[in-house]
Parts: sequence; structure tokens; C-alpha cells
Amino acid sequence: MTLRVGVVGGGQLARMMIAPAVELGVEIRVLAEDDGMAAALAATSVGDYRDAQTVLVFAREVDVITFDHEHVPQDVLAALIDEGVAVHPGPAPLRFAQDKLSMRARLDELGMPQPDWAAVTGPEQLQAFLDAHGGRAVVKTPRGGYDGKGVRVVGAAAEAEDWFAALAEDARGGALLVEELVDFSRELAQQVARRPSGEIAVFPVVETVQRGGVCAEVLAPAPRAGERLTEVAAQIGVGIADGLGVTGMLAVELFETTDERLLVNELAMRPHNSGHWTQDGAVTSQFEQHLRAVLDLPLGETSPTADWTVMVNILGGPSEGGLADRFAAAMAEYPDAKIHTYGKAPRPGRKVGHVNVAGDDLDDVAYRARAAASVFLD
Ligand code: ADP
Repeated sequence: MTLRVGVVGGGQLARMMIAPAVELGVEIRVLAEDDGMAAALAATSVGDYRDAQTVLVFAREVDVITFDHEHVPQDVLAALIDEGVAVHPGPAPLRFAQDKLSMRARLDELGMPQPDWAAVTGPEQLQAFLDAHGGRAVVKTPRGGYDGKGVRVVGAAAEAEDWFAALAEDARGGALLVEELVDFSRELAQQVARRPSGEIAVFPVVETVQRGGVCAEVLAPAPRAGERLTEVAAQIGVGIADGLGVTGMLAVELFETTDERLLVNELAMRPHNSGHWTQDGAVTSQFEQHLRAVLDLPLGETSPTADWTVMVNILGGPSEGGLADRFAAAMAEYPDAKIHTYGKAPRPGRKVGHVNVAGDDLDDVAYRARAAASVFLD
């Protein structure tokens, strides 16, 4: 028997599932949006993931469908379920990763700690929220945001006028999400994997460093994470995975507040940038774990293989030439750095690769990971 996984979406997350699939002998197929995407190596189909027929035809060749991103529309997911396709994560949990307003409402029902929030349909409601929260707040478009796009700190309702105008033109209507401006000391991420049969594996909580709304680096495990913080983060991850019925990898982005509370920022139901360190720093990588989880196989050990692993994203890349042109310099200087590139053309701000370094001294590991990543920049 050969196990076959179909990944919808051809980005770097799908690409990084290929190596563990090959190692396990799991057949992996990718439905890519375009030719030449990051996961082109396993892209057996190219087509529009918003078209039910395209996805259905792709799904017939595999045992389970999973995703590189969370943008597959609910009607396409419903069509897959109607045809009896195994879809992990399923449409019900995925809705909460697709729509931040639905997520906030559902997490309240589950009793999860969150920033104060409200759904606002016009400037008056937003102004009322601002008045009740010290005059500043974070406004978010509920759908389609990523890397900080669709997130805006505002001090007056007028600053979200263009987004309200866009809402008014949208036939589906809807609302914006407004949240209290959280006074956080740092951002953390908790990853867990959950199988359809309910087994859960918990990865160590990590610290994520964001610059300009984009993840710049990850320190694993999170430094200065005491027993209580580690336990509360794990409880939140497990509670959300169970409560929403997530299957596959779940990442919960968290704020650690200055008064030492953890608040949920957002969810991703797939391998996530905060877990790239596991490729070279944990017994089981998040990509292998995702495959195991969606195939309903026993989950792998999640413990770290080094005291510290630091992941640094290569953002943008060199302005001339490709990443491989810098391999010799990076490898000669930092032989313990594990270099991962995504086959994407360098472009300012674009995530084109990352570097992992593991070891027993956090400062040294972080220094070497940053230095090795910077070899790929101008
Ligand atoms: P995206 O979906 O684009 O990743 P997020 O909701 O994760 O957007 O927000 C992007 C960044 O904006 C977060 O990583 C955090 O730094 C900041 N942010 C988001 N929500 C809040 C909030 N309520 N309070 C303070 N900062 C926030």
C-alpha cells in the first residue's frame, strides 16, 4: 500500500513537506497555483484552488487532501466532503483560520484568553471602542490578511475610513475586527499536532520576533519560559486543537503581556513559520508531523534535539543573482548553519529562505544564525 497526500497550494510550506514525504515513502502531490512555484518539484497539477472541479479532479488521485495555505473557499471544501474526500484540517475548523471575527467569537466560547475585541460595521462603533480602550486600538480586516497586511493601529475612526468604504461596496456586507492594543513584552507561538483519532503532540513554546509585521526570527524554546508559562501555552494549544477539532499542525500565535498573561493573537492550521526550527532542532519536524497527523498515523516525538535552535528568515535575498550564488560563502563561514531556500526569486521583503542553527549557548546560536542569514542579503 502506498500512502498518497495531496497538498493544495504550491508555496514553501508544501515544498518543505516533500523531503519528509520522500523519506517516509509517502507519495506527495501538489496542486500549485502557477508553474514554477516553490513546490514545483511535486506539483502534479496546476490550477485554481477556488474552482471546485479542479480541486475534485486533483483529490481523486490521493488519500487525503491538506493545505499549504488557508484560502480554499468553504464551498470548494464542502464539495470535497460531499464526494467523500478526507480533508485535513476539515472545513469546520478551517473557517476559524480563514475569518478572524469567527475565530474571536469561537475562542470566547471556548474560554480562551484574548484581547478585548468587537465587530464594527461603521466609524461610530469603532469610535465607541476607541473611547472605551484608551483612544488607540488595532483594526483588522477579518479575511485575507497576512504578514501584517490588513492590520492597522488607529487613534481615530477616520483612519479606517477606506476599509469601511470597501465594506460598504462588498455585497456580502460584513464587519471589521477591532481589538485592544495589547501591551505585550513579546510574541510567542505554540504549535500542536492533532490526528483525526484525537491524539495530540505538543511542541515547545517558542518566541517569535516580528519586524514590520513579518516574522524575522524564532528562538526555540522560548527563552525565560518558566514551567507555568510553558504549561499555560500548551493548555491553550491543546484546548484550541480539541475545541475546534483541528487535524494536522496548528500554530497559535500568542502575546505575552507585560503583566504576564498569554493572549491568543491568531491561528494557522498548517505548518507555520514559527515551526521551521523543528527541521533541525526537534526529533520530528513540523512537516513530517503534519503528514503523520493528516494520514492519521501515530505522532512523532516533539522534544528538542539541542538546548537552543534559532531560525532566521532570509527576507528579500540579494539584489543581484540568486541565493545559491552565496552558498559557498555561507557554508564556508558557518558550516553548522542549516540553509533552506524556497526556489523563489529574490524580491524586497519576500520570504525566500531561512537558516537554522542549533547549539547550547543561546547568544552564540542566535549570532551565528543571524550572521549566516545575512550572507544572503546585500
Ligand atoms: P497577520 O494575519 O497579517 O499575520 P496579525 O493579526 O498576526 O496579522 O497581526 C500582525 C502583527 O500586528 C502581530 O504580529 C502583532 O505584532 C501586531 N498586532 C496584532 N494584533 C495586535 C493587538 N491586538 N495588539 C497589539 N499588537 C497587535
